[in-house]
Amino acid sequence: MIIASTLRPENAVHRTTVDAGDHFIGIVKAGQTLRIRDLEGNQAADTLFFNAHDTAERYSAMDTVREQGALYLTAGSRLLSSEGRLLLTITADTCGRHDTLGGACASESNTVRYDLEKRHMHSCRDNWMQAIADHPEYGITKRDITHNINFFMNVPVTAEGGLTFEDGISAPDKYVEMLAAMDVVVLVSNCPQLNNPCNGYNPTPIELLVWD
Ligand SMILES: [Zn+2]
Repeated sequence: MIIASTLRPENAVHRTTVDAGDHFIGIVKAGQTLRIRDLEGNQAADTLFFNAHDTAERYSAMDTVREQGALYLTAGSRLLSSEGRLLLTITADTCGRHDTLGGACASESNTVRYDLEKRHMHSCRDNWMQAIADHPEYGITKRDITHNINFFMNVPVTAEGGLTFEDGISAPDKYVEMLAAMDVVVLVSNCPQLNNPCNGYNPTPIELLVWD
């Protein structure tokens, strides 16, 4: 569902560009709105959310999909935690569809899917590991890194129930926006994947904006 936002970038209290292949970790407070902006188009933003006060409570794809009765995320989707509580609600979306089934790229999956020599390529899982190692103050450990949201990524489900990674439906300046219902830690890997079309074979920067 396409819904544009009325929030103006010049009123944002926080703006950060995440370079191609880089990562971000930070807190969005209850009542704040987070926008993830696909600056150049066709860029997957692999994202995890945690309760900032107890990071054992985290985004749950299973609870979110079950409760909304739909596989894709878009405006109106309520992003639920592993405790069934609301983390954030998607309030605006100019892309129209986001994936939460495909998972994140990792050294292991790159090896299995593509080639043994892809083992050392940069991956989202390595990005997340780097972020939590650099920022132990959030209390997030390796075991907390689980299934995620792939904002802007196109993983259509076929009539037969199959999943494929397809060329993106996002485009330059498309964005998704969400209102935090509790204080959340946001952990983003700006996906560096080069072996499938999730980034159009050309990883590019994204921008994160926050409004009070
Ligand atoms: Zn990735």
